[in-house]
Amino acid sequence: MANKLNILVVAGDGIGPEVTREAVRVLQSVAEAGDYDFAFRNEPIGGVAIKAHGSPLPDTTLKAALDSDAVLLGAVGSNEFNALPPSQRPEAGLLKIRAELGGFANLRPSFAWPGLSQNSPLRAEVVEGADILFVRELLGGLYFGAPREWDKHKNEAWNTMRYTHDEVVRVTKVAFDLAGKRRKKVTSVDKANVLEVSQMWRATVTEVAQQYPDVALEHQYVDAMAMHIMNQPRNYDVVLTENLFGDILSDEAGVITGSLGMLPSATIGGTVNLYEPVHGSAPDIAGKGIANPLGAILTAAMLLRYSAGLQEEAASIESAVKQVVADGYRKADLARGDKSAKVSSTTEMGSKVREVLVGNRASAAR
Ligand code: NAD
Repeated sequence: MANKLNILVVAGDGIGPEVTREAVRVLQSVAEAGDYDFAFRNEPIGGVAIKAHGSPLPDTTLKAALDSDAVLLGAVGSNEFNALPPSQRPEAGLLKIRAELGGFANLRPSFAWPGLSQNSPLRAEVVEGADILFVRELLGGLYFGAPREWDKHKNEAWNTMRYTHDEVVRVTKVAFDLAGKRRKKVTSVDKANVLEVSQMWRATVTEVAQQYPDVALEHQYVDAMAMHIMNQPRNYDVVLTENLFGDILSDEAGVITGSLGMLPSATIGGTVNLYEPVHGSAPDIAGKGIANPLGAILTAAMLLRYSAGLQEEAASIESAVKQVVADGYRKADLARGDKSAKVSSTTEMGSKVREVLVGNRASAAR
């Protein structure tokens, strides 16, 4: 257990600073209650960094990230920079920090908690109780494989889906280690009926699974899985995928939760782990104090779990968020159509989580 944790906060643009502030406050409450020493350093990324330093990821920010124990990111992106070429836009800072930190396993939970199921476009009886953790390989596959080209003379373009055995082994181990601490089931997704790379993926996952006799393994084709996730989301615990399939399926599974503002993520396995809510900078609501901070707060819980080994503290944040939602507190994005919802501001929502967190700790201590 790490008592001292140096956290780099890169809040970024739009609602990034608003939601990240609440996540940091929750971490500070955890530190005070548990006598932990969490040190926070703030550095710019994205549009704010372009304005201050002329680069979406200044060297000082990158160095601070590499020197930290964990990086907590808000969001990047601002309409102001839409005319710039992609390499100079705020989002380039995000891609660069992800690449420099080198995380190869992207963890994306998708869940339907009591009180949330009416937000999903799926029927409550289908989603209630669903709790899936996607483990998506992030540095290989079609997004990175060579050769890749758009040959305009031949009017032809190609990309390469490529994996090495070692790349599949390391991400598979992450999935099995996590499943061992959850409901002990891994569903590996591929397209082994068509793609050689998937045949290798399936054989490698099966080989690694031998080391985990307590964890059940099943294989699913990606096309069938796209349907199963919507039809029977409760059937899945840890879902292991290559890069492209995970990108698509984890977004699809976001509809189980029903709100982008609720979804956390972590990218682990590199030099320093990176934690970020799934949503973007939401320029349409930035500065209004109405952004949902719960995705950022749940991201902070992931940080404690995966960078500090503070399992109980992470679970206590998740329980507090669950309770706040169950008590009927909602951000505007979740309150649609729910007449009983107590709509709160970003800061009120954060305070509510901290209140419940501190109250739960006090009653546990009695
Ligand atoms: P977005 O996630 O910012 O917003 C999509 C919709 O969801 C908007 O209507 C927004 O108001 C709402 N929303 C998002 N987060 C919310 C929250 N916490 N609470 C309440 N409502 C919320 O996606 P977008 O509109 O496609 O992109 C806006 C900008 O963010 C773009 O510049 C894009 O490039 C960038 N972006 C960044 C990231 C990231 O930093 N990881 C991810 C996606 C998009």
